[in-house]
Amino acid sequence: MSAATEPRKLALAKGVRYTCKRCGDCCRTLPVPLTPQDVARLDAHDWTATSLGLRGAVVHTAQAPRGVWGPHTARTPDGACVFLAEGNVCEVERTLGRDAKPLACRRYPFAYAPGSEGKLAFVGAEFTCSAVAANSGKPLASHRKLALELLEEGPALAAPSEPVPFDRGLSYPRSELERVLDLIAAELEDAGRPFVDRLLAVVRFVELFRRSSMSDLHASAPRTMLEGFAKGVREQVKRGVHRVPFRPPTFFERMLYRRLIARACRPTPPRQWSAGPVRRGVRGVGDGLAGLSYLAGTGWIQPVGAQQRLAIHQVRISAPPADVYAPVADGALTHYFVAHVSGRSLLRPGFPIAETLPALGLLVRQFPLILLFARAACLARGGAQVEGDDYAAAVRSVELAWGQTSWTRGLGGRRRRKLLSNVEPAFHHVAWSALRPQDLERAKAKADARKQAADQASK
Ligand code: SF4
Repeated sequence: MSAATEPRKLALAKGVRYTCKRCGDCCRTLPVPLTPQDVARLDAHDWTATSLGLRGAVVHTAQAPRGVWGPHTARTPDGACVFLAEGNVCEVERTLGRDAKPLACRRYPFAYAPGSEGKLAFVGAEFTCSAVAANSGKPLASHRKLALELLEEGPALAAPSEPVPFDRGLSYPRSELERVLDLIAAELEDAGRPFVDRLLAVVRFVELFRRSSMSDLHASAPRTMLEGFAKGVREQVKRGVHRVPFRPPTFFERMLYRRLIARACRPTPPRQWSAGPVRRGVRGVGDGLAGLSYLAGTGWIQPVGAQQRLAIHQVRISAPPADVYAPVADGALTHYFVAHVSGRSLLRPGFPIAETLPALGLLVRQFPLILLFARAACLARGGAQVEGDDYAAAVRSVELAWGQTSWTRGLGGRRRRKLLSNVEPAFHHVAWSALRPQDLERAKAKADARKQAADQASK
């Protein structure tokens, strides 16, 4: 059956728009893995005769930029793909035509995750793309046919394990876990209430679901209970029973969050992907030292598109606060989170956290991180208040590191998994990331007064 007659095979991420702006940013910043067909096609051409003047025609090398070793397009000394020519033109496209470009380039910014219940796949979007981040262009639905053709051109998606691990010792059939993710996406996109309230309802819902440890969502009773949880929590948040927690994170939680910041601030630059052991070693030492400085509360931040690096303490003290209730913040955060949950980012093949709950914990912690980066972007351009473009730069910046690290493996992995499986602490970092220290004190005093009033009223 053709793509045109079977369009329902794909479930597209909600609320995503995209039209390529030919900015060439992806060619400069992202690795380009090659399929055997790509390698054969590139090898069959003599690239020394092109305008790039590729000497020796070294067009691909073996690299492992995201932990998987394999052939990738070579990079120029400044880190760009070797085929990127002047004017952001792709030399492969100019010489051999669009269909000859590596499959990864043609698929970008689509991001596929395997589907269930008769769906071939979920299609999400990479927020590293400036058009996706700014939500500009045509709706994802208008790219459905192309997305299906490109999916069918490549090797079949590796399905995640079935059942899907959710938390320690607890797994669910994929189709059932998707029901939970659908409830979360529906809550997040339910406009008319501030994003923070919707995210708070999601966090409380996930906590309830985690604690209930339902072993079988297939039966109608647990399913009804699940829907009841979602509805009940939403009503409670609406009535103000749950409030955004305003308390300091624990020491270990703070350390984890600082590491997330360090990772987002120091993504591996493209020229490092094919670096030799000495350069990789030097970078490793640099990462270690930088990590220590972030843990100590210092460190540098440079959002995508900003020309200068800024000290994090400078951003916290001097940048305008990020008002999460402002429409630009609400829109950007809703867009980012709904797209990731409905596009099933956490279930993509190769996502480095196997269990869905800590992966969700990692996703929710992107919330305060986006606020911090947006303020940095605003300060870098000398703005008086955080605007839509700052949020677009922020989501691109955090996305460069998102889903690239196996936080739950290796040394300390067990402790981090435990921390990430608790989704609420994401809120503990919001005030630190969004407010200036002087505003923080005022906000704390207000919250204390509100709490006292609520306690008095309940007596
Ligand atoms: S092959 Fe072409 S489209 Fe792909 S990254 Fe290189 S320059 Fe960009």
